[in-house]
Amino acid sequence: MGVNEQEYRQWSRILEACGVGAWEIDSDRQIVRLSPDGAAILGVTDRRSLSIESFTNLFQPPFDRTITHSLERLLQSNQEFEEALALLSGGWVRIRGRVIPEGVSFQSCGMVQSLLDKASVLSIDLSSGSDHLYRYMFMENPMPMFIWEFDTLNIIDCNRQALLKYGYTREEFLRLNIRDIRPPEDIPLIEKYTRQADFYGDIHNKVWRHLNKAGEVMLVNITGHLVEIEERRCSMVLINDITERLEAEDQLMESLKELSDYRFALDESCLVMILDKEKKVVYLNQKFQDISGYDKDSIEKYSLNSFYDERDLGLIANCWDTLLSGNIWTGELRGQKKGGGIFYVDTVVIPFRDNQGKIYQYIWVGYDITEKKRADESLIKERSLLRAIIDNLPIQIYVKDTAGKHIINNRYQYEHSLGAKTEGETLGKTVYDYFPKEIADGMAAYDRKIIQDGKPAMNVEEYYFDRNGNRVWLLTNKVPLKDAKGKVVGLVGMSRDVTDRKDEEEKLKNLNDELQKKAQELEKSNEELEQFAYIASHDLQEPLRMITGFLGLLEKKYDPLLDKKGKEFIHYAVDGARRMKTIIMDLLAYSRVGRMDEKVKEVAIEEIVNNILGLQKELIHQKRAAIILGKLPKLKIPIAPIHQVFQNLINNAVKYQHPEQQPKIKIQAAEKADFWEFQVIDNGIGIPKSFQSRVFILFSRLHANKSYSGSGIGLAMSKKIIENLGGTIGFHSEEGKGSTFYFTVPKSLQ
Ligand code: ADP
Repeated sequence: MGVNEQEYRQWSRILEACGVGAWEIDSDRQIVRLSPDGAAILGVTDRRSLSIESFTNLFQPPFDRTITHSLERLLQSNQEFEEALALLSGGWVRIRGRVIPEGVSFQSCGMVQSLLDKASVLSIDLSSGSDHLYRYMFMENPMPMFIWEFDTLNIIDCNRQALLKYGYTREEFLRLNIRDIRPPEDIPLIEKYTRQADFYGDIHNKVWRHLNKAGEVMLVNITGHLVEIEERRCSMVLINDITERLEAEDQLMESLKELSDYRFALDESCLVMILDKEKKVVYLNQKFQDISGYDKDSIEKYSLNSFYDERDLGLIANCWDTLLSGNIWTGELRGQKKGGGIFYVDTVVIPFRDNQGKIYQYIWVGYDITEKKRADESLIKERSLLRAIIDNLPIQIYVKDTAGKHIINNRYQYEHSLGAKTEGETLGKTVYDYFPKEIADGMAAYDRKIIQDGKPAMNVEEYYFDRNGNRVWLLTNKVPLKDAKGKVVGLVGMSRDVTDRKDEEEKLKNLNDELQKKAQELEKSNEELEQFAYIASHDLQEPLRMITGFLGLLEKKYDPLLDKKGKEFIHYAVDGARRMKTIIMDLLAYSRVGRMDEKVKEVAIEEIVNNILGLQKELIHQKRAAIILGKLPKLKIPIAPIHQVFQNLINNAVKYQHPEQQPKIKIQAAEKADFWEFQVIDNGIGIPKSFQSRVFILFSRLHANKSYSGSGIGLAMSKKIIENLGGTIGFHSEEGKGSTFYFTVPKSLQ
C-alpha cells in the first residue's frame, strides 16, 4: 500500500465521518458516478450508472430545474456552483460543483452533503423562549412568506416554503430585491405603489404577478403586513399562489361559454321543449313559441298532446314507450299551430337521468322541416305531372343505366315497343330480353357509344321486327344522362314510330323509279322519232326532187299543149312540191338541233343580227320595216344555233304584220345576274290568247298559208335550241298590238 493510497483512505474516512459524499460526471456516457457516501446521502442504490436526468429527478421541483441548469453551466462553461436542494425523498442536501484539470481535459465533479443538521437547527425548543417559537412559526409556516425592506426593496428574510415556491436557495433569494421576482413590464407598478405612502397600510392585500427562478409567471395574492425590523420599515408578505385557481376559473368560464354557445346555436336552429319527470311541459324555447304560436308564460295550460296533430298521437305513444325503456326516440311529427295549421318537425327526444339513474327530465329537440316538406310535396306533384305527360306522349321514352338496364319506360314504350302491361315488369331488363340477338347487339353497341362518348345522337333511323314480324321503323334521339358532377350515368332515349312515313317514302321512291324509267323510255322514243324525222326528211328529198324536176320538164315541154286548166294544175303541183320542200328542209333542220355538237366561240351578237338583216334585206325593204338595235353584247356561244333563233324571231317579227302598217322592230339585250336576256319586239298583228299555248308546238300555225307563209317549225326549233343551251324562251303578245319574244342564254356557257 503506497503513501497516496493510505492518504486517500484517511481522507475518505474523515469525509465519511463528516457526512460528505462525492460525485463526478462521465461526460462521454452522460452519467453521474457517486461515491458510496454520496449514494447513501441521495438514497441511490445503483450508484455507478445514474443518468444525468435520473440524477436531476432526485430533487423536488423546482430544485430539479435548478440543478439541471447548474450542471449544464458547469459542463458547458466550467461555471462552478453551490446549491441547497430539497430531495424528492425528503430532506435537504448541499451540492457543490467544480471543474478540475485532468491531463489535457477537465473533470466535472463535486461534493454532496446532507443538510439534516440544518433542518434540525430549525426545529425549536419551545421551552427555550417565544422568539424561537415565532421564528419557527415563520420558517415552518406552510404558506410562503418573505420580508422586504421599503427603502432598498431588498428581500431580507424568507421561509422554507418561499424558497420552494420561488425555486431559489436561501442565499440566492436573500440577494434579490422585489423587482427581481416581477415580470419586467410590472416593475413600474412597484415604483408607483411604493411612492403611495398610504398604500401599504398595516395590512394590505393585492394580486401581483411574480416570477420564480425558472422564469415562470405566477399569479399570487399577497397579504402584506407592515413591520419594523431593527428600525427599518419592512413589509412581511404572505404569498397565496392563485395561478391554478384562476386557470381553473378560466377553464370553468370557458366551458360555461362553450355551453352557452351550444345553447345559442341550438335555440337558433331548433325547437326545444323540456318536460319534467311527470311529462309536464316546463319549457319552450323562443323558436318553438315562434313557430307554434304557443306562449311559454301560459305553459301550464297545455299538455304535450295539444302541441301535436292528433294523427300523430299514436307515434307519440310509441315515443313514450321508447323513452321509458331508456332509449332515445327519433321521428317526424306534425306540430299543431295554436292558431291552426301544421308545421313539420324532425324530432329527437332524450331522457335525462340523475345520479340514481332515475329519469328527471325529457328534452325534445325538433328541426323545422315544413319548408322542405312543402318543397317535397310540390316536387312530387311536379314529378307526377311530368310522368303523366311522358306517359301520354305518343312516342317511346326510356332511360337506361350504363349497363343498358331500363330504369324508366313510358307507357308508349312498355306497351307498344316492349309489349308489357306495366312498367314494373320491364325495369331492370335490357334489349336482349326483347329483341333477337342480332338486332339487340346493334342497339346495345349504339347505346354504349353514347355512354362512352358522352355525346347525343339525333334523328337516327333504326328498325326492329315486332311480334307479328312486321318491320317497325324508329326515328330516335339518344342523349347521355349525366349526374350533378357531369359523369355519364346512363342515357335517355326518345323514339318515334316512322314506319308509315318510311312506307310512304318507299312508295314515293318506287314511283320515282317508275317515272325515271318512263322518262328514259320517252327519251328513247323521242330519239327514235327524231331519228325517224331525220331519215324521213332526208330520204324524202330525193323523190321530191324527182317530182319537182319532172313537173318542171312537164311544164317546159308540154306548155303549148296544155290548156288553161292543165297549166293551173301544174302550177298547184309545183307550188305544193315547193312547200313540201320547205317543210322537209325545216324538219331536217329541226331534227338536226342538238345533234351537231358545235363548239362555243366568242361572237358579237350585233354581227349575227346584221348578217340576218342582210339575208332578209329584200323582205325588209319590201315591207319598209324599221329595225332598231339596242346595245348587244359579245358572247361565247355556239354560233349556228343562236343565228337560227335570231333568224326565226326576226323573220316572224317582219312577217306577221298588218299589210297597211309599217313594221317597227326592236332588238335588244339585258344583262342579268346569271344570264343574258334578248328581246325581239314587234308592232305586228299579235297572237290571240286562244292560240298562245300552242305557239311553240311543232307545225302549229295560226295564220293562213296564203297571207303568211311558213311551216310552223321555226319557234319549235328555237325552243329546242334555247333549252338545249340551258336557257328559256317565251313571249308576251296582244292581238293587234304586237308581240315581244324573249329568250335567255346562261353566262355559264362562256
Ligand atoms: P311559221 O312562221 O313558219 O308559221 P313559226 O313556228 O315561226 O312558224 O310560228 C308559229 C306560228 O306562230 C306562226 O304561224 C304564227 O301564227 C305565230 N307567230 C310567230 N311569230 C309571230 C309574231 N311575231 N307575231 C304574230 N304571230 C306570230
